[in-house]
Amino acid sequence: MLNDVPAPSSELFEGGGEAGRLMANTDWAATEVGAVEQWPASLRFAVRTVLVSRFPMVLTWGAGFLQFYNDAYAPLIGAKHPAIGEDIRDTLAEGWDALAGPVEHAMTAREASWLPRLPLLLERDGYREETYFTVSHAPAFGDDGSVAGMHAVCTEVTAEVVAERRQEVLRSLTAAGDELGDEEAVVARLCAALEVDVLDIPFAGVWLAQEGRLRRVATVGCPASALPPTATLADLPTDVSGLGLTGGRWDDPVRDAVVLPLHTPGAEGPAGALLLAVTPARRLDTDLRDHLSLVASQFTAALTVSQAFSAERRRAEALAELDRAKTAFFSDISHELRTPLTLLLGPLDDVLTDPATQLSAPVRDELAVALRNGRRLERLVDDVLDVVRLEAGAVALDPQPVDLAAYTAELTGVLRAAAERAGLALVVDCPPLPAAVVVDARVWEKIVLNLVANAVKYTFVGTIQVVLRATPQGAGALSVQLSVSDTGIGIPVEHHERVFDRFHRVLDAQARTREGSGIGLSLVRDLVQLQGGSVVVDSAPGSGSTFTVRVELPTADGQVGEPAPSAAARGTAAAWERDIAAPAAPERDGGGGGSVLVVDDNADMRDYLARLLSPRFAVTAAANGEQALAELAVAVPDVLVTDVMMPRVDGFDLLRRLRADPAVADVPVLVLTARAGQEAAVEMLEAGADDHLAKPFQSAELLARVTALASRSHRRPPAHGDDGSRPAPAGGVAVAPPARSVAVDPVGPVTGPTGDGTSHRAHWRLAAGERAPGQARAHLRRMLADAGVHPDQAYDLLVAIGEAVTNAVEHAQNPTEPVVDLLVEIDEECVVATVRDTGQWRERVASMDRGRGSTLMAAVGQVSVLPGAEGTTVVIRARLRR
Ligand code: ADP
Repeated sequence: MLNDVPAPSSELFEGGGEAGRLMANTDWAATEVGAVEQWPASLRFAVRTVLVSRFPMVLTWGAGFLQFYNDAYAPLIGAKHPAIGEDIRDTLAEGWDALAGPVEHAMTAREASWLPRLPLLLERDGYREETYFTVSHAPAFGDDGSVAGMHAVCTEVTAEVVAERRQEVLRSLTAAGDELGDEEAVVARLCAALEVDVLDIPFAGVWLAQEGRLRRVATVGCPASALPPTATLADLPTDVSGLGLTGGRWDDPVRDAVVLPLHTPGAEGPAGALLLAVTPARRLDTDLRDHLSLVASQFTAALTVSQAFSAERRRAEALAELDRAKTAFFSDISHELRTPLTLLLGPLDDVLTDPATQLSAPVRDELAVALRNGRRLERLVDDVLDVVRLEAGAVALDPQPVDLAAYTAELTGVLRAAAERAGLALVVDCPPLPAAVVVDARVWEKIVLNLVANAVKYTFVGTIQVVLRATPQGAGALSVQLSVSDTGIGIPVEHHERVFDRFHRVLDAQARTREGSGIGLSLVRDLVQLQGGSVVVDSAPGSGSTFTVRVELPTADGQVGEPAPSAAARGTAAAWERDIAAPAAPERDGGGGGSVLVVDDNADMRDYLARLLSPRFAVTAAANGEQALAELAVAVPDVLVTDVMMPRVDGFDLLRRLRADPAVADVPVLVLTARAGQEAAVEMLEAGADDHLAKPFQSAELLARVTALASRSHRRPPAHGDDGSRPAPAGGVAVAPPARSVAVDPVGPVTGPTGDGTSHRAHWRLAAGERAPGQARAHLRRMLADAGVHPDQAYDLLVAIGEAVTNAVEHAQNPTEPVVDLLVEIDEECVVATVRDTGQWRERVASMDRGRGSTLMAAVGQVSVLPGAEGTTVVIRARLRR
């Protein structure tokens, strides 16, 4: 078109670009303003100003509003350009309603208007478009000073206005998605938030996938019935003109919609769909499409979070339900158990305590075992009942005046024997408090005993310390602080809060006994809270734990009661003491049928098995898989009888390691399982066990099965050894039966060192003299180097094992033989060194935990000390550093 425009004849329009050329070509003489030559100076100046401006400008002149505009203005009126010389009221007819007022005001009041972001309806592009302009109208003066026209400067700001409101809706959607809730509630909230953007999205609907269909869950901007209640993605309409709905800035009929699937991660099909109606007042261009996609992605994000939240809530609900079911079950079963237990324990107690009863010593012992374990069961049942009562808020406190320091010390004393048997030092630091306090004595007993029992259970070397302190808290109250510290296995920080949750147990925690239900600490917390107090734990793996109870108690005046620890507490402690002790010496007058190694962590069960088997077999006992492995290293039995659930190395592990070691791989294994553990039995059989028996069992059946296995053993005979092993002495031994190796007379290597590249094993017998530690280190140095143990760790091990040998030489009193056995096994993961002497230690085992040697040993790895009738065994186990 430019080329069609002849060059302007008049200077006035020169440099005015296309607009200037159009003006030059206009037949002004035929218009109200007349021929250019007759134009007043004011019009000429005004036109000149418009043409040279690079800002969009329009000038109208005369009563007919004839317009003059520049090239910058032309695009604003789109397809209506060129309209130079025409009446502006015709050109902007559809928007004139909005403009007429300000224009007229500018011209009559001679005052410029200022209209920022003025919405204007323009049909410049073939549809009724929503546009925004920032405009100022000013009067244009004629030569005589009167108002002859209007000057307008304007900028289009449509893009900015639209972008801002789109940002706004995205912000609202984010805020709506931040609140958690189920999926339906969340998408409904988001859908409602779309109301902020009706100018872009006049109406919308959301569907969620349900059983293969999409179900409508929310709509906005239209009646719900306008959109299908159920649909597939393909059914949802993109042509919505039939719905008769209007929208957009000028309320025109809505014709188009965009349907967007909502995909959440991991789901196969879409989790839902979004229908967004498109404003008729804007073209569906890339910008608008991008905006609608962003809207959909907000829905997807919120849906994803909500699905994760719902899954988590469902899990929590399921757990809570399980917890309730467990509680209900425990409640029922505890009540059921209590009556028969009472009827069992009462008569047993009577028989045992009645001096008139004539009982032989073995019968008395048997009944004592029954009573002890009955009491233990009673305490477990009591704990469970307490938990249930606490949950139901049905625990009534029975406060009484108590000398808390004396009582706490006495309670701790109940577990002293167990602690010391375990080789632990028990330090009780409970100086008298400023006053007696009022407290429920049974509740305090449970708190103290649970904490101290845990300390014994989870500590293998070191000290348990019980400290009680109090400070006056105003008149009439003491702020009491009880702390129980141990040097045990510790608790990883992520479990600190959760150990107080019911049934929570730290997986793989090494304990002295498997007994435990994970309710002890929850009971402690609930009981402490019941008295308005709190309990916290401070602990780190490997460096022990401190549990601290803080509670404010009223001081007592008058008579102070003297509560004593309950029978259940004493019974439990007695049973514990036996479990913790090294395997007691079973009677072993048998042996004709071969040798049996019994592995069980329950001392009474171990003794019971030994008693049943000993008339026919030479029986050795071990309290867990680790001890059993140490036993196997020195003497190979004809049959191994093992429990499955044990601390440290359990039955599975024991079996696996047994089968992997050619020296003992063919030992027949009988597994004992609980009735409820049938799957475990199947797994054990699959793992290579030869037979299994469920507890409780008939003694005859046990004997028959063990006999059958013994007769299959490749090792039989000898019972008394063609390999030189001695028969077990009457009375038995706690730890090491005299092994075949023990009878090898000359001092020196017994077996090995042997190795297959990944595992190394050696057994040396050393003369128990001052040269033994040096000899041990010399042997070891070579072996550790052959096995590729890191030099630093090898050094530590040499020192630690040397210390253990020194102890064996120095401490063993009245040895049956002046020898020390050193057995070392190295596999890909760890080194296990077993040092055994044949005497009784001069000092009690607890001294192990205080001396330099034990400190060195404990720094290198896990150390266990097993005192026994025929000697003392120290096992050092260290994980390889490689
Ligand atoms: P449990 O019957 O298993 O001992 P508790 O409620 O008494 O149950 O303790 C919960 C868990 O806390 C235990 O299983 C153990 O993992 C951990 N725990 C408790 N006391 C100690 C402690 N003194 N040292 C290390 N771990 C402990």
